[in-house]
Amino acid sequence: MNIIRVALGVPLPRLFDYLVTDYAESDIGHRVTVPFGSGFRTGVIVAVAHSSALLETKLKPATSILRDMPPLPADWLALCEFCARYYQAPLGEVMAFALPPMLRRGKLPRRPRATVVRESTSPPALPTLLPAQQAAVTALDACQKFQTFLLHGVTGSGKTEVYLRAIDTVLARGGQALMLVPEIALTPQLQGRVAARFPTAHVVAANSAVADAARARGFLDALEGRADIVLGTRLAVFIPLERLQIIIVDEEHDASFKQQDGLRYSARDVAIWRAHQRNIPIVLGSATPSLETFHHAGRGTGPGRYCMLELPQRAVAENLPVVRIIDTRREKLQDGMSAALLTALELRLARGEQSLVFLNRRGFAPVLACPSCGWISGCKRCASNLVVHLADRHLRCHHCGFETGIPRTCPDCGNLDLQPFGRGTQRLESVLAERLPDARVLRIDRDSASTPKKWQALLQQIHDGGADILVGTQMLAKGHDFPKLTLVGAVGADAALFAADFRAPERLFAQLMQVGGRSGRADLPGEVLIQTEYPQHPLYQALTTHDYNAFAITQLNEREVAAFPPFSFQALLRAEAREMQQSLDFLVTARSAAEPLAGERVALYDPVPMRMPRLMTLERGQLLVESANRPALQAFLAAWMERIYALKMPAGLRWHLDVDPLEF
Ligand code: ADP
Ligand code: ZN
Ligand code: ZN
Repeated sequence: MNIIRVALGVPLPRLFDYLVTDYAESDIGHRVTVPFGSGFRTGVIVAVAHSSALLETKLKPATSILRDMPPLPADWLALCEFCARYYQAPLGEVMAFALPPMLRRGKLPRRPRATVVRESTSPPALPTLLPAQQAAVTALDACQKFQTFLLHGVTGSGKTEVYLRAIDTVLARGGQALMLVPEIALTPQLQGRVAARFPTAHVVAANSAVADAARARGFLDALEGRADIVLGTRLAVFIPLERLQIIIVDEEHDASFKQQDGLRYSARDVAIWRAHQRNIPIVLGSATPSLETFHHAGRGTGPGRYCMLELPQRAVAENLPVVRIIDTRREKLQDGMSAALLTALELRLARGEQSLVFLNRRGFAPVLACPSCGWISGCKRCASNLVVHLADRHLRCHHCGFETGIPRTCPDCGNLDLQPFGRGTQRLESVLAERLPDARVLRIDRDSASTPKKWQALLQQIHDGGADILVGTQMLAKGHDFPKLTLVGAVGADAALFAADFRAPERLFAQLMQVGGRSGRADLPGEVLIQTEYPQHPLYQALTTHDYNAFAITQLNEREVAAFPPFSFQALLRAEAREMQQSLDFLVTARSAAEPLAGERVALYDPVPMRMPRLMTLERGQLLVESANRPALQAFLAAWMERIYALKMPAGLRWHLDVDPLEF
């Protein structure tokens, strides 16, 4: 018998055998179309064999092996196998995810006939590296084996310049580079910068904004060895590169590297595995590294598993911005803003400099309320409130997307006087426009920058000096370089201070340090004002001294006492159903199945409703499992999942496992 084993993108943790008339070892890695159910599917051949556990009469013949592109290489198959194992996902689903949609469907993009002849522009005049940058580049250039580096550089310290030099070395050696960046928002600028630096290199962009055919073409360019640099978001970690010599993960702390649905992988962690697999260096860069990474890099107190490279100074600006804490406890705020912040904004306006007011909440107000009967605008589908969007007069759920017009009267008591409660970016925008009528106020959040095109236009407007005051969410926090921006004000930050999630302080600190780092990046000195009712809070105090290390070490000590990551490893089993009881019942059954497998090294917690118990009409519960030992947890999860797949699922119940979850 000639048998091929096929990984199909279906939610079953197994391979599927098919008959073929003839095959070769070299067919491994080719896509193949096979009959499945009542139709056909395309999958990937992962093995060939002469026998099957199934009877020959039960086996169906494959429809056709697609040999129209080179087979997916062995290291790509191994990468997918690792993800399937580590994240407990069916291999076929991992591969289906790792392939661009067009290739997954068994198609090929039309290729441009003629190869583009690039003009031989000479590379640009390069800046002289600062000593710390030079030291980092030297260390990277010298490393030609697996090593994880943490490039810990303050905001504006020239991390990107270090990446570019390292890439340059790799290209000169005939290698390929993979650079991962957090989100689409940032890639266009970086793409421009990379293209300008390497005018003759073939740079492949890979993110969700790239159209289907272009994405497939980029993948093929990489697979067939034509790509020199792949620059993309988390999905780019799966692009095959035979001559890969370096991986860079910029803003490695960013939560967007972890996918929150489907295959719940961390692109940063997968990238580290890939660097290990290929025996090449990987650079994790950040001004505010994740505590996991900082811990592995020796916490700034000594050598660690990761090699720490530090850029303690800004590249262009003399200094880091001055950070001041504004105590708002005894002040009557004016529309949420302190006198100090308003004065500082006026001063920048008078000087013709730019300011940024940071409020990480979009919309006009987080809720609409009736003062007479207590009605509030709740979402019918979720355990959350509908946010007031005054710009287009809608109430909108930020979790499920439900929207409806703003009611004229209270739905419960008919009261005409409904009040928006609290403050979002739209409200701040209109308040600022009112108070500072001479200022050109520009709001930047996911509503105003809803498409890449709009976002580009907004960025261009800022760069062209077409805005005096920016009001924005965290969209503006990362990476941007606006030379005339000298003031950053943070309002409403306290909301995140006492959140129940143990990672909330880490996120808040990173956000404030990153957004503050937008100010004073060029020759004008920068200032950061943080409004708070907790001026003595250690988190804010550490920000005033730019002391990431002190903050991170305190946090790590707390986590060690509580045995939280990185001192333990976690996984969450989540379930959702029409009713909470169904979800919890399933989790109780799953917990019983886990008990004989857990042993002493794996702790099983009790099933509980999720913090947001209802989303899109489904009620959700979760079960946490934890271990101080990663291999022990992995072995347990594999055995547990086998039992869970064997359980008879109640109708309407959905479940998934999240390994190394970031959100609780
Ligand atoms: P980071 O990514 O660390 O925030 P960037 O790489 O964006 O910082 O660099 C900040 C600014 O400093 C950029 O405008 C960059 O062109 C400039 N820069 C970086 N290194 C140097 C250098 N050695 N000399 C002069 N300018 C530099
Ligand atoms: Zn009412
Ligand atoms: Zn909703």
